[in-house]
Amino acid sequence: MKLAIIGGGPSAFYVASRLHKLLPQTLDYRIHLFDRLWSPHGLVRYGVAPDHPEVKNCTHKFDEAALDRRLRFFGNVNVGDNPSPLQHTVKLPLSSIFSNYSHVVFATGCTLPKRHSELPPSASCTSALSMVHWYTQHPNAPSPPPLDKISHVSLIGNGNVSLDVARMLLTNVDVLRKYDVPERVLDVLAESTVKHVSIVGRRGPLEAAFTMKELREMINLPDASMVPLAPELLQPSEGVPLTRQQTRVLQLLSKGSKNTFGTTAKTWSLDFYRSPAGLMVPSSENTRSQLSLAHTVVDPATQRAVPTGETSTVATDLVVTSLGFHGEPTAPYFDPGLGHLRTLSNRIVTNAGTTLRNVYGSGWASTGAHGVLAATMMNAYDVAETIVNDRMNPVEGTEAVLNPDPSLEELPEEVVHGVRERNIVEYPDWKRIDEEEMRRGQVRARLLLGLSAHKTHFQRFFIGV
Ligand SMILES: Cc1cc2nc3c(=O)[nH]c(=O)nc-3n(C[C@H](O)[C@H](O)[C@H](O)COP(=O)(O)OP(=O)(O)OC[C@H]3O[C@@H](n4cnc5c(N)ncnc54)[C@H](O)[C@@H]3O)c2cc1C
Repeated sequence: MKLAIIGGGPSAFYVASRLHKLLPQTLDYRIHLFDRLWSPHGLVRYGVAPDHPEVKNCTHKFDEAALDRRLRFFGNVNVGDNPSPLQHTVKLPLSSIFSNYSHVVFATGCTLPKRHSELPPSASCTSALSMVHWYTQHPNAPSPPPLDKISHVSLIGNGNVSLDVARMLLTNVDVLRKYDVPERVLDVLAESTVKHVSIVGRRGPLEAAFTMKELREMINLPDASMVPLAPELLQPSEGVPLTRQQTRVLQLLSKGSKNTFGTTAKTWSLDFYRSPAGLMVPSSENTRSQLSLAHTVVDPATQRAVPTGETSTVATDLVVTSLGFHGEPTAPYFDPGLGHLRTLSNRIVTNAGTTLRNVYGSGWASTGAHGVLAATMMNAYDVAETIVNDRMNPVEGTEAVLNPDPSLEELPEEVVHGVRERNIVEYPDWKRIDEEEMRRGQVRARLLLGLSAHKTHFQRFFIGV
């Protein structure tokens, strides 16, 4: 077996790690991971919020999988026939993958933000993904948001990513300094004049997408307080049974934030039953943007938000949409209806409905952008098991697109050239950068904060590329 995994995020590493476990130790197979980013681990490096260092511990498992001599990682390689969103990447056409490998897993994630039809991108409206790319200093990071010129931010959507962005805007910069926040991001946050963050959701507290852990972090923010919710919002309808999670959300929201509203310089609110209906950018009449919100109720039959006909307008400085993610429409086997690749029982299915032999989808590329790392891991393990089972019992009637008998040692010629020109980052190269980032992080913790690194969550000084 010679397997190419397209993408080097968590799902790619979890598939590889599981295959190492499932395949016989004596089997001489190869697993090659390709990522368009120069560094491995996908959203673990360029997504997970810096103040969640414990989430990033999964990289130890990825390091272990990469230690196996049968695995190689090739960073800065964009697979596919379309132009890469990153300028400097080595281009590896899909035809080269198909002719050089016996097995392929697409683990390309969902890399694009879902947009709201009423909120096109503008100087007053950006996506949560752009904010995340900025504060993690993703190679495609946009210029910093003008935090020193604004006081009111409206976040559209109330999932965990929205709460990550809110926390970054409401946490004192000296607290953030103890985490893996890039220096130039801290400089911008230090100048921030943001006073209020409004988190807008089209349904109510019982349907909110955030999890308890993230809500609790918001409630306990040391330097911010929440606008109390109207008691009627926290009353469930009679006869509607609540899940344990819903009961706990209502209890937490009824108690309100740790800091009493009005006692802190920064505040935040959960604005339920509101759906964006338009945004007027600043003009000679209004110095701030005007966000129109349609009031909604939840239809008990469909659980969908429906407009009541009432609207209101909020003066705001920056609208940030956090409505989820989708795959790249130009990617092979992308299903526009689903917003991700088309798979059946982990196997890729073509437009014509044919299952491809030994071609699989894993992680967010296959399931859509749902679930935390634990869910991505379970899915990846399942994909690895499917690969192993298919080796024993090949699925009938599948279309063959791969090379059934490739040379284990040969690399695609584009990769050979990229390695020779030193345009490709392999895992040992990454480990050298990783160690240097950690070393500089410790120096910084000691010199600038006067702390030993183990007393902080600060582990890393980001080396930009
Ligand atoms: C902002 C944010 C915060 C999150 N925070 C948490 C958290 O705190 N805790 C938690 O448990 N989960 C969190 N998650 C969820 C978690 O990140 C996902 O479950 C997980 O990253 C999905 O893994 P994946 O490998 O499918 O996708 P990804 O992590 O997106 O990896 C996909 C990789 O494929 C690469 N790629 C795409 N196209 C190509 C191509 N054509 N050629 C080469 N490479 C390509 C991308 O560069 C990327 O590195 C968060 C998600 C987001 C968006």
